[in-house]
Order: sequence, then C-alpha cells, then structure tokens
Amino acid sequence: MTMSNFNSSDIAAFKDVWVFCEQREGKLMPTDFELISKGRDLADELGVNLCGLLLGDNVEGLAKELGGYGADKVYVCESPLLKVYNTDAYTKVICDVIEELKPEAFLIGATNIGRDLAPRCAARLHTGLCADCTHLDVEMTNYKDFLREASTLPEDKIEKVGTAMVLGEKRDVAKDLKMTRPAFGGHLMATIFCPRFRPCMATVRPGVMKKNEFNQAKADACEIVKPAFQLAESDIETEVVEVVKAAKKLVDLIGADFIVSVGRGISKDVEGGIKLAEELAEVLGGVVGGSRATIDSGWLSADHQVGQTGKTVHPKVYVALGISGAIQHKAGMQDSECIIAVNKNDTAPIFEIADYGICGDLFKVTPMLIEAIKAVKA
Ligand code: FAD
Repeated sequence: MTMSNFNSSDIAAFKDVWVFCEQREGKLMPTDFELISKGRDLADELGVNLCGLLLGDNVEGLAKELGGYGADKVYVCESPLLKVYNTDAYTKVICDVIEELKPEAFLIGATNIGRDLAPRCAARLHTGLCADCTHLDVEMTNYKDFLREASTLPEDKIEKVGTAMVLGEKRDVAKDLKMTRPAFGGHLMATIFCPRFRPCMATVRPGVMKKNEFNQAKADACEIVKPAFQLAESDIETEVVEVVKAAKKLVDLIGADFIVSVGRGISKDVEGGIKLAEELAEVLGGVVGGSRATIDSGWLSADHQVGQTGKTVHPKVYVALGISGAIQHKAGMQDSECIIAVNKNDTAPIFEIADYGICGDLFKVTPMLIEAIKAVKA
C-alpha cells in the first residue's frame, strides 16, 4: 500500500503515539524526556499506548529510563550502522518500522538532528509534518465547523473541503492531534491538523514541554521491543568520516535555573554591559542570554539567543536587562517562573509580563542588584 492512497479505514489502522528518542554517544537528549512527558498526555487523551523509538548501537540499556517518564513501550533498533546519526540509515529504519507498526502520531524534537530527520521521514511516508510546534493537544474536531470559524470560505466550499478533510461520512467528527506553532514572524499562532494522512508528524522545540518526574516503578514496567528491520551499507549514500565537536562550550540556556539576558540597551558600553550581566549571572549561579539584537550585532554568539528563533526557556528567574520585550523575545521566555526587567523606558512591553519591573539605567541598577544579592548570600 502506498501511504498516499489512504481511506478512512486505513487511518483507523494507525494507533499509538510515538516519540523519536534521540541519543548521542549513548546518552539520551533532554528533549526525549520532554516529548515522552507530553506524549503521555496525548496518548491518554487518545486512549492509546505511548511508545519511544530508539535507534543506535548497543542502546537497549537506555530504554527503561524513557519508561520512567511515561513510555509504555520502547522500540529499540540496534545496528553498528546506526551508531552515529546518519540521515539515510535513520530515515530508512524509521520509515520501515512505521510502515509496519503504524503509529498515529510521531513526535520528534526540533534539534539539529530532528530538523534533518523529520522532513525526510514525512516525505517518504507521504504524510504531513508540522515543524517547530510550541503546543500540542488532542481535539475532537468537526472540520466543517472549524473551517466556518477559522476561514472566510463560502458555505459550499466549506461543505466540500470539510468533507474531504474528514474523508467522508465515516469520520464526520475526528479526534485529531492539534498542533500549534508561531507563524508570520510570531505575530500569530497557527493551528494545524493533519486529518487525511498518518502518522501525523510534529517536531517540537526543545525546552517547551515540561518533563514529568521520573518514576522508577514505571521504568521497571516499560516494555522493550526489538522490531525486525533491514539495513545494509548499500542503503547509506554518505559516509561519516569524522565527527568534529565545536571547540567552544555552548551556553546551556535550556537547563539553566537563572538567566540574565541583555538587549540593545547595553549599546553605549557593550563590553561593560556584558560584564555586568556575567557578574549578576555568577552571583545567581546562572548563565547569560541575549535578545536577537545582541546576536545580530555580534555582541553575543547565537547559542545565547532567547526567543522565537532562539531558545525557549523557563528558568526559575529570568532577568531582562535593556530588552524592550518584542513579541518574538517574549515567545521564548514568558513562561519563566519569575521575570525581573530593568529598562529605562517605563512603557517598554517587557514590563507587561514582568513580576518585578525596575525603571532605570541598567548600568546603575545592575551593580546594585549584584551587591544586594551578595549581601543576602553573605
Ligand atoms: P530593542 O527593541 O532596541 O530594545 C532595547 C531596550 O533597551 C529599549 O526598551 C530601551 O528602552 C532599553 N534601554 C536602552 N538603554 C538602556 C539602559 N541604559 N538601561 C536600561 N534600558 C535601556 N528577538 C529576540 O530577542 N529573539 C528572537 O528569537 C527573535 N526572533 C525574531 C524572529 C523574527 C521573524 C523577527 C521578525 C524578529 C525576531 N526578533 C527576535 C527580533 C525582535 O523583533 C526585536 O527586534 C528584538 O527582540 C529587540 O531586541 P532588544 O529588546 O534587545 O532591542
């Protein structure tokens, strides 16, 4: 069967929510736990199993940990040819296993590897992919009503398109994955469904979904399954000659509890502004982030960027120094537990979401904050 020729009964054959569990050098990635946790909620809503899909060489030992965050089952595919990520090999194995076992939803972290892998798999499986999602839900959807609300199509077109979306009389109302992502430069959120093809695929931004508490009993109960697959050297058209790691250690914004971010407000003394942010981050035990303005100006490297096209963070405390609070910046930090903003303009939008707002010059306020925190700690 080619995946492009689905009808309603084909769709009904697809069950379970799957998460691609990325490992590098035998270590699971933080995104795996976030997606397994979110996948658990979705699978419960759909009344199906949550399964991890883990590829690599000698990686079976990692599988139970995924159970501890919510996976009922982990499919493990092992081969020396899967030891290091390779687009050809991973795409072939994943698509073969999916065609055999038919998950209804397939989630992949929007990491560098995930962004490479997901579109390849979606194209080969002839299904839809919503890239870079920030929210996932399951919704009972009547597509005709959905179109009436969300579009300006005339009634005769709604009847036609809506019927096509639910594949005729068998699925008037469908329980489908509802995927949300920022669109048009973050000015609106797009809601995307994939009603006619399976699996419904989504990549999800790292750091967006909250991970569950680890549960040892669930880890012990997690089933490990090794599906059959074929993979030969001749399936792989590229050769990994060498893996060169970035010489510089990248800042870990996603895992940080305290982030001090700087914006264009440091422009009158860039070096001094960054030094102040570093000092404040150090007394808090955190790291330095930045708005895109600071990255575009070359003041900080790209790994420091917070926001829609940077990292999504939710630390315990986020300090914004000289950041206006553009919608694209807020998109990456508004879920922080506590936001402290320092800005000399009292109408700056960052104050709308700040828990504590200090209207003043960051070059005067930040040294006072540093001293105050040192005094509390002493
Ligand atoms: P500005 O908007 O210039 O704000 C500087 C602020 O500093 C002002 O509010 C000013 O009052 C204050 N200030 C100046 N001097 C001082 C001082 N001495 N003390 C205190 N305050 C002072 N932006 C991101 O950050 N992250 C993203 O991921 C991102 N993605 C984008 C994606 C798209 C498609 C687009 C179109 C834009 C994106 N942007 C992103 C850019 C975003 O729209 C803003 O341009 C950017 O966030 C502005 O950065 P800023 O707040 O540092 O600078």
